[in-house]
Amino acid sequence: MQPIHIIGAGLAGSEAAWQVANRGIPVTLHEMRPVVTTPVHKTGNVAELVCSNSFRSDDSATTAIGLLHAEMRRLDSLVMRAADANQVPAGGALAVDRDGFSAAIGAALEAHPQVEIRREEIRSLPPAEWDSVIIATGPLTSPVLADAIRMATGQDALAFFDAIAPIVYRDTIDFSVAWFQSRYDKAGPGGSGADYVNCPLTRAQYDAFVDALIAGDKVTFHDFEASTPYFEGCLPIEVMAERGRETLRHGPLKPTGLTNPKQPDKKSYAVVQLRQDNRLATLFNMVGFQTKLKHGEQTRIFRTIPGLEHAEFARLGGLHRNTFLNSPKLLDATLRLVRAPRLRFAGQITGCEGYVESAAIGLLAGRFAAAERRGETVNIPPPTTAHGALLGHITGGHIATIDPGPPSFQPMNVNFGLFPPLTHAPPDTPDGRRRGAAKAAARKQALTARALQDLDRWITGALMTAAE
Ligand SMILES: Cc1cc2nc3c(=O)[nH]c(=O)nc-3n(C[C@H](O)[C@H](O)[C@H](O)COP(=O)(O)OP(=O)(O)OC[C@H]3O[C@@H](n4cnc5c(N)ncnc54)[C@H](O)[C@@H]3O)c2cc1C
Repeated sequence: MQPIHIIGAGLAGSEAAWQVANRGIPVTLHEMRPVVTTPVHKTGNVAELVCSNSFRSDDSATTAIGLLHAEMRRLDSLVMRAADANQVPAGGALAVDRDGFSAAIGAALEAHPQVEIRREEIRSLPPAEWDSVIIATGPLTSPVLADAIRMATGQDALAFFDAIAPIVYRDTIDFSVAWFQSRYDKAGPGGSGADYVNCPLTRAQYDAFVDALIAGDKVTFHDFEASTPYFEGCLPIEVMAERGRETLRHGPLKPTGLTNPKQPDKKSYAVVQLRQDNRLATLFNMVGFQTKLKHGEQTRIFRTIPGLEHAEFARLGGLHRNTFLNSPKLLDATLRLVRAPRLRFAGQITGCEGYVESAAIGLLAGRFAAAERRGETVNIPPPTTAHGALLGHITGGHIATIDPGPPSFQPMNVNFGLFPPLTHAPPDTPDGRRRGAAKAAARKQALTARALQDLDRWITGALMTAAE
C-alpha cells in the first residue's frame, strides 16, 4: 500500500500518524527539526510544547476543553495517552512533564512498524506521486513551504498574523441596553438589516473607555513577531485609541446610521458593534477589537461597555504571528483542499487554536485519510461532539463578512458556543428552578453528556454523518 505522507511531527502531525498507522496503513512522517528549526521550538523532539505545559481543564462535565480530552481518550489518542502518563500536579488542569511527554510520543511512533520518520524540510508542494498528504506544519510553517501553499491557495487565503477580536456568548449580552441593527439598516448580502448587536456609549463612558484602553496592561510582541509586518487594517484597538481621542469614534465605534430604539431621540456618542460569528448565532465578535491587552485587562475594560457588564467571553482578543488558512473557503468537510484533494490540512494551520485542539484536528485528519485510503466512507463526527463542533468552525460554521479590516475567520479554541444549543433546557431539580451558576452548570453538563453519547454512537457506526 502507498504510504500517507504527513508533513510536520508536531501535536497534529504526530497524532495523525498514530491514527493512520493503527489502521494498518504505512506513514512517512517528515519533520524538519533539528535540521531546520522554527523561531520558537528549542529541541528536535516530536510534539514539542513550545510554551506552557498545560492542556487546560480536565473537567469533562462542565468545560469544552475537558470534554475534548475525554473524547480523544475514547478515540485512542496518542497525545492524550502520553499526557496522562506524564502528568504533573496542576489542580483541575492537565499539565505534563514536557520532555517526558515528547519522549513518549517519539518512542511510540518510532516503535510502530507502519511509521517511518524522515528528518527533512519539505520546501515545496509535495510531488504528484504523493497521492495522500496531511500538511500539519503549524503556526510557524517554514517560510518556503508557506509561500508554496500561498501560491497554490491564493493571496488572501493564507494569513501570517492572526488579529483576534474577542467573542461574546450572545446569551450573556444585556438586551435591555443593547439592540440589533445594521448601520443605516442596510441588509447587504444575506443580511436582514438588523444583523449587528449595538452597545451605546455616552461621552463620559467613551472618554473613560479610551483612557482605560490606553492605560491598560499590554502583552509585548516576541522578537520574531516584531519583524513580521501586519496590515494597517489590523491595528490593535489600543493603538488606534492612542492615535487620538476621536479616532475610535470615527472608526469601529462610529455611531452614524444607528438609532437606539430605547432612546430614539438621543444620539449615542459612540457605539460598539458585535457581529454574528457562527451560523448557530450563539457567538458574536466585537468588531475592530483585535488587541494586545492582557486577558484580565480585556475582561475588566470590555465589561465597562453598556450591555456587556455581564459578558462571558468564548475567546479573548490577541494578535500573534500565526500561519493559518482561510479554511471555511478552502477546505472540504474532511479537511481536504478543494482545489487539490490529495492535500489535507491539520492542526493550527487550519484555524484551530491550542495544543489539544491541534492534536484533535490531527486525529480527525488521520482517520479521514485512512478511511479514504481503505476505500471506506469518510464519516465525520456529529456537530454535537467537541470534535464535530471544532471541525464545524474550521470547515463551515463561521460566517464570513465583507466588512473592512482583518479577515473575519480567525483561530479559535474549542468552546460551548460552537455546539448546537440544547433542544430542551435541563429539567428543574425537586427543590425548584435552577438559577445563575447552577443553571449554567446544568446546561454545560447536558451538553457534555449529549456529546459523549453521540460520540459513542459515532464510534460504533450507529450514527453516520457521511461527508458530502
Ligand atoms: C509562540 C507560541 C506559543 C504558544 N503557546 C501555546 C500554549 O501555551 N498553549 C497552547 O495550547 N497553545 C500554544 N500555542 C498554539 C499551538 O497550540 C501550538 O503552536 C501547537 O504546537 C500547534 O500544533 P501543530 O501541530 O499545529 O503545530 P506544531 O506543534 O508547531 O508542529 C508543526 C511541526 O511542523 C514542522 N515543520 C514546519 N514546517 C515544516 C516543513 N516545511 N517541513 C517539515 N516540517 C515542518 C515544525 O518543525 C513542527 O514540528 C502557541 C503557539 C506559538 C506560536
